Amino acid sequence: RLVLGIESSCDETGVGVVAGTRLLANAVSSSMDEHVRFGGVIPEIASRAHLDAMLPTIRAALDTAGVGLADLDAIAVTSGPGLSGALMVGVSAAKALALAAGTPLYAVNHLVAHVGVGLLDGDGAGAATTPDQLPENLLPDNLLPDNLGALLVSGGHTEILRVRSIVRDVELLGATLDDAAGEAYDKVARILGLAYPGGPAIDSAAADGDPRAFAFPRGLTAARYLGTATAPGSHRYDFSFSGLKTAVARVVEGFAARGEAVPVADVAASFQEAVADVITAKAVLACREHGITSLLLGGGVAANSRLRVLTAERCAEAGIELTVPPLRLCTDNGAMVAALGAQLVAAGVAPSGLGFGADSSQPVSDIALV
Ligand code: ATP
Ligand code: MG
Ligand code: FE
Repeated sequence: RLVLGIESSCDETGVGVVAGTRLLANAVSSSMDEHVRFGGVIPEIASRAHLDAMLPTIRAALDTAGVGLADLDAIAVTSGPGLSGALMVGVSAAKALALAAGTPLYAVNHLVAHVGVGLLDGDGAGAATTPDQLPENLLPDNLLPDNLGALLVSGGHTEILRVRSIVRDVELLGATLDDAAGEAYDKVARILGLAYPGGPAIDSAAADGDPRAFAFPRGLTAARYLGTATAPGSHRYDFSFSGLKTAVARVVEGFAARGEAVPVADVAASFQEAVADVITAKAVLACREHGITSLLLGGGVAANSRLRVLTAERCAEAGIELTVPPLRLCTDNGAMVAALGAQLVAAGVAPSGLGFGADSSQPVSDIALV
């Protein structure tokens, strides 16, 4: 069950190779540096960078895994959601490889792949064995719990998923109505004059700040949005960060107008607290109300120190088992795509063929395109 996975939905060109649930290689090339001066990912630049990086990254992953194209049992590629032009580069490369090698191809969902990464073990430092020595049927039927929750927080997404089966049944419980959590970090960093990407900059600035210095709003937590457990409001599990961003901007403007220095550490800490508080509160609420006792945290914002602490605390209180994959598997990568592909192969799901295209808004219920 040797599967190669290709990821190109945003600014990471990722190619991974797995044998069942064992990670053999995870090569990632990021165009992040090229976006820094714009303060955000520029789709055109990302697409171009994918084009440059795609073949070398595929080569690197195959070399590390110690396998050739002909050894692969399947290829999986992110078909969406993501940036259209960026996705198309990965999709085209995957189709070309599949056609050339006569390998079945799976067009998989990026968000579900973020969950699939939780199945992997091994360090991606290559195969300990040659391909023909790889154990057959490495895949136990279902290594993930039957009713798993996933909290995905990144620059493009803030979502709570319910995963009844990673190959058959994934449901969106809540999502952001405006900015993603990482996007909010990046915008607030800009307001505070901190570097892009804003997440790490705010995280370190916040270390010296008081998280209670400013009472920033917790979006969509008013009673009319939350409703009750029996009569949920329309946005009980949804998020909104644009009001928070505006509140930070007003505070910063206030200091400037008074000619006072902005207390950057206190603002950063208070902002970070507001984001972590609302995200973890809603994730735990969604788990409780859906009988979910196991939660996976994924996406680049999983690096956030406050979010990690608060998620762990609140999950422990609620009796929810928390899994946080290693950070290099939380950010975008090809191994997660390969991991989901291997599950689809193991479950006997039919390959996607070559007729699909990139779907920038692929819903989570479309785990693999047909
Ligand atoms: P996608 O949304 O498609 O998964 P992305 O490139 O937008 O991809 P990631 O690469 O997963 O997202 O994560 C990048 C985001 O994570 C950025 O917005 C960055 O500011 C944020 N981030 C990184 N480290 C931290 C941190 N320590 N605290 C908060 N946010 C962080
Ligand atoms: Mg990224
Ligand atoms: Fe992602």
